[in-house]
Amino acid sequence: MAVLGATVIRRPGAFASAAARRMAVRARAVAGRTVVLAAVGLIAVLAMLSAGCGSRGSDGARGPVKVIATTSFLRDIAQNVAGGRLTVGELIPVGVDPHEWQPAPADLAAVARSDVLIVNGGGLEGTLLKAVANAGGHARVVTVSAGLAPRVPKPGEPDYGKALAVDPHWWLDPVDVITYVTNIRDALVAADPPGAGIYQANAAAYIQKLKALDAWIRAQVATVPPAGRLLVMNHLSHGYFADRYGFKVVGAVIPSVTAGASVTPAQMASLVRTIERLHVKAIFVELEENPKLADQIASAAHVKVVTGLLDHSLTSSSGPAPDYIAMMKYDTHVIVENLK
Ligand SMILES: [Zn+2]
Repeated sequence: MAVLGATVIRRPGAFASAAARRMAVRARAVAGRTVVLAAVGLIAVLAMLSAGCGSRGSDGARGPVKVIATTSFLRDIAQNVAGGRLTVGELIPVGVDPHEWQPAPADLAAVARSDVLIVNGGGLEGTLLKAVANAGGHARVVTVSAGLAPRVPKPGEPDYGKALAVDPHWWLDPVDVITYVTNIRDALVAADPPGAGIYQANAAAYIQKLKALDAWIRAQVATVPPAGRLLVMNHLSHGYFADRYGFKVVGAVIPSVTAGASVTPAQMASLVRTIERLHVKAIFVELEENPKLADQIASAAHVKVVTGLLDHSLTSSSGPAPDYIAMMKYDTHVIVENLK
C-alpha cells in the first residue's frame, strides 16, 4: 500500500526525513516564541475582549457560529459533524506534538473570537485551558472525552507508579471516538439549534464510518499472531488502542502518558531486558518525537525502531493522513506490518 512508503526504519543519528526535521525545527521555534510572548498575549487578548471582540456584531446580531478545535484530528472529526454548515478551525499546527504545544498570543486571540472551543481533555491541553480561563472570552468549552473512563493499566503491564496522570489518548480507539462525535454533535446543536438536523444526520453517518474503521482495524490486527501483539512506543500513547485490539503494552521509552517526561538509566535498562525476554519486534516512535532514546534502547536490545507514526497529528492534504480515519489506517498498517 502506497502509504507505507513514508514509513522509515531509523538509522541512529538521522532524522526520518527532511519533513520530520522541518517539523522538529518548527516545533522548537513555536515553543520558544510562545514562552517569550505568552504574557504579552494575555494582555492583548484581555484588551480585545474588553473592546467587544467576538462573533457578536455591533448591532448585537450573531454571525455564523465560530468553532475551533485544538488538534488537527479533532478539527477533522468535528468538521465531519459540522458538514458544510460550519468551518472548524484548529489551533495546534499539523506536525506539532500537542503534549509540548503552548498557545501563542494569536492562538488565544482565535479562542477569544470563537463560540465553541473543542478540546480533547484528559490533560492534553492543560496549558491552553489555563490560559483561556485567565483570558476570559465567551467560548463554550466542549471536552470531547467527557463520559469516557480513564485507562487503568492492565495486570502484567510495567508498574510506572502512581505519578502517571490521566491517559488522554482515547482517540486512538475509534469506538471511543463515537463518544467524541456525540459530544461534538450535542455541542453544535446547543450552539446552533437551527442546524440540529444537519448535525444529527452528519454525526450518525460518521459514526457508521467509525464502526467500519473499527472492523477494518480488527481485520488487519487479526493477521498478527496474538503472541506477537506486543507494543513498545516512545511514550505510553497506545493503551486504549491496545485494550481494544488485543495488544499488550510491554513498556515505553518514556514511561509517561505525556511525551515530555524524564526517563532514568535504570528504566531504560529494564526496558531493554523486557524487549529481549519477550522477543518484541519493534519500538514505534511518533513523527514529532525525538527518537534518540529509542535508538539507544533498540541498539542495546537488537530490535528496529520504526518512526513516523502519525497518531497525534494529521498530515497536510497531500500526506498519508489528511483525515482522522486515514491517520488510524496509516498507523495500523505501520504497526501490523512491523509486528507480523
Ligand atoms: Zn501522546
